[in-house]
Amino acid sequence: MTMDSTSSNYQSCFTELLAQPVYGMSQQEKSKKLLALMAHLHQHHLTHCSAYARLFSQAPPAFSCYDELPYLAVRLFKLQRLASIADSEVFRELRSSGTTGQTPARVILDKATSARQSKALVTIMQQFIGKQRLPMLIIDSPDVLASPDLSARAAGIQGMAFFGRKPSYALNTDMTLNTQAVREFTERHKGEPVLLFGFTFMVWLHFVKAIERSGINVDLSQGILIHSGGWKKLVDQQVTNGVFKNSLTSLTGLTRIHNFYGMAEQVGSVFVECEKGHLHAPSLADVVVRCPYTLRPLPHGETGLIQVLSALPTSYPGFSILTEDMGAIIGEDDCGCGRKGRYFTLAGRLPKTEIRGCSDTAGVA
Ligand SMILES: [Zn+2]
Repeated sequence: MTMDSTSSNYQSCFTELLAQPVYGMSQQEKSKKLLALMAHLHQHHLTHCSAYARLFSQAPPAFSCYDELPYLAVRLFKLQRLASIADSEVFRELRSSGTTGQTPARVILDKATSARQSKALVTIMQQFIGKQRLPMLIIDSPDVLASPDLSARAAGIQGMAFFGRKPSYALNTDMTLNTQAVREFTERHKGEPVLLFGFTFMVWLHFVKAIERSGINVDLSQGILIHSGGWKKLVDQQVTNGVFKNSLTSLTGLTRIHNFYGMAEQVGSVFVECEKGHLHAPSLADVVVRCPYTLRPLPHGETGLIQVLSALPTSYPGFSILTEDMGAIIGEDDCGCGRKGRYFTLAGRLPKTEIRGCSDTAGVA
């Protein structure tokens, strides 16, 4: 990001926001700070991304509430390469794995955005894991990191690996449970806190189900599991978050289980599930829920399309994205866990039937 006045304004807003407690600001105070920052990001991308400028040059320069913010449909990142930096500044290009046959989303990162993402992820995750780096069991196969293209799955593991030490992998190349590795891990770290990370569906199918089938004794009562990834496959199998957690608790003794919601298009600003089962917006991000038909913002409690706001990206215009995920905001500032700001739950993906008939969305899972 070149140091014009917009970027120095952004930088000072960002520094101020980052210095705030992650879940300590009231919604009123937080949205004011975040909106000021969003206005700078909007100006920045108007200046540096021609595709963004073509779409939003008529948008107002400042915003009095989230509802006025321009947003990009998440699909655009699959259709176009959206960058707000010169090619020479590209540090990394992230490609989301997507489903087979789908074009992956492309997310263009420079060093500054990438560093901000890491910083944000650390700040948020430390609220749940603590500052100590714990022995880590990754519920995946080590081969996922060997692929030359950095998949979103590999990037997710790399990002989380920072919080652990001496990583062990729970799965074999063929995704079967590596019972020996799991046994060694639990015996070596018996009675001490450990960190587990995996993608939700893999944790369920290749870990929970495999432990259940094999009947092996796995004690992870001192563990913290962080998991993420689509719920769609689990919903298809009628596995709710409650069933997921209860199965893990009864099989392994794990009680500290935190799902998080995030996307390749906004790495770093993640929404982590609290002890009450709600996803919380951290200081650097927020959510809006819109009606899937009219795209108008919905009142709290109503289910619609989730729009995610993130203070982080300057190298690509992804600070305000309309996702294809459904959810509902439950409330603000009053979750039973004590965290301030907005909290919400997910309700799955936009149903196929809703979008059937639009040629550009055909075949999307
Ligand atoms: Zn909460």
